[in-house]
Amino acid sequence: MSIAETDLQQRLALDRKHIWHPYTSMIDPLPVYPVRSADGVYIELEDGRRLIDGMSSWWACIHGYNHPVMNRAIEEQLKRMSHIMFGGLTHEPAISLAEKLLSIVPQNLKHIFYSDSGSVSVEVAMKMAIQYQHARGKKKKHKFATIRSGYHGDTWNAMSVCDPETGMHGLFGSTLPIHYFAPAPMSKFGGERKPDDFLPMQSLLEKHHGEIAAVILEPIVQGAGGMRFYHPQYLVELAKLCKELDILLIFDEIATGFCRTGELFACHHANVQPDIMTIGKAITGGYMSFAATLASEEVALTISRGEAGVFMHGPTFMGNPLACAAANASFDLLINSDWQTNIRRIESQMRQELAPAAAFDHVQEVRVLGAIGVIEMKEPVNMARMQTAFVEQGIWVRPFGKLVYIMPPYIISDDELSKLTGGLLNVISMM
Ligand code: PMP
Repeated sequence: MSIAETDLQQRLALDRKHIWHPYTSMIDPLPVYPVRSADGVYIELEDGRRLIDGMSSWWACIHGYNHPVMNRAIEEQLKRMSHIMFGGLTHEPAISLAEKLLSIVPQNLKHIFYSDSGSVSVEVAMKMAIQYQHARGKKKKHKFATIRSGYHGDTWNAMSVCDPETGMHGLFGSTLPIHYFAPAPMSKFGGERKPDDFLPMQSLLEKHHGEIAAVILEPIVQGAGGMRFYHPQYLVELAKLCKELDILLIFDEIATGFCRTGELFACHHANVQPDIMTIGKAITGGYMSFAATLASEEVALTISRGEAGVFMHGPTFMGNPLACAAANASFDLLINSDWQTNIRRIESQMRQELAPAAAFDHVQEVRVLGAIGVIEMKEPVNMARMQTAFVEQGIWVRPFGKLVYIMPPYIISDDELSKLTGGLLNVISMM
């Protein structure tokens, strides 16, 4: 059902006046586009325009929108129950999902904590690290170390390990817990390894290991903090040193998980296992808000032997059955597909079609990994102007800062992907 033009303007005025969108002003918000529906890789606006989705709704909707298998799974679960508390109760969708996830995550991860968003799963991971050290009598190990250009979410502890400048939370600086930051790795993924890349992190950890509970970082691809792809060797050296210095390693795979980088999880590029790992976004194919934190046996059992005897967390919507049903269906769609070939197809086409942008004067670098394509500009872009131009080209791309990037749904066809990259290059060449 479409909304009449005058009604639509009123609805948009109400939205503009009362509703906060992500990172927006209540005085002069940037325009938002009203969506009527979405299907496959297409987002349909209220005025009937159809846009090819380049964002997968922020890494999440990997199977596209309105997928019949996903819809059916959620509808079937809805008839049984949409929600039930997880304290003292359990259900088949949660059990089946645990079995599935544990079959694909790094093998040492054996215990799973469900939550309702990526940021919460990061809070959970950080709490696990603290409780683990506490349970071993190492109460002084209560800080975290990370790398610059990282992003881990918008809640309090997650913010404290985001990059203080690019991580969008600089304002909160002095009110946040203070942690240790090493420079971001400089050796690029697929590039030559700079021999001293790991040295700053090494000296930081050697100096402060007595206070550090865990290192937390996004493996291989740093997302919202810079869209950087770094060399796997960094993770190999980090994992080794963390073991030697009795520091836990937390991988945030919320953006990178579920094949986005060309491997099931980005840590597989380095063949390194973390002690704790967070997953979210694409876990439900983007159909429901959901996330999980996975822990090794050593972490889970140590926490359980500690003073508290339990892990101290339990949100209301933990293990939501509808979300678990969506995640089960999304898992089956992905794992039963030839995702390796498909991601390689998207990767090589993006590599070829985005390459000409590197010759533009105002472009710093073009990089592609898996189903992620990034055009880094020399200067921050005018987001409103660029967004309008993208919509005029019939594509949905949401740049930030100097970064214009796409991570399309995996179901995108060659032809649709060409329209997406073509529109992207048209807009960038006009700016
Ligand atoms: N970690 C990473 C790596 C992310 O990209 C994000 C979301 N952009 C988060 C954590 C936070 O997830 P959410 O927005 O679901 O809270």
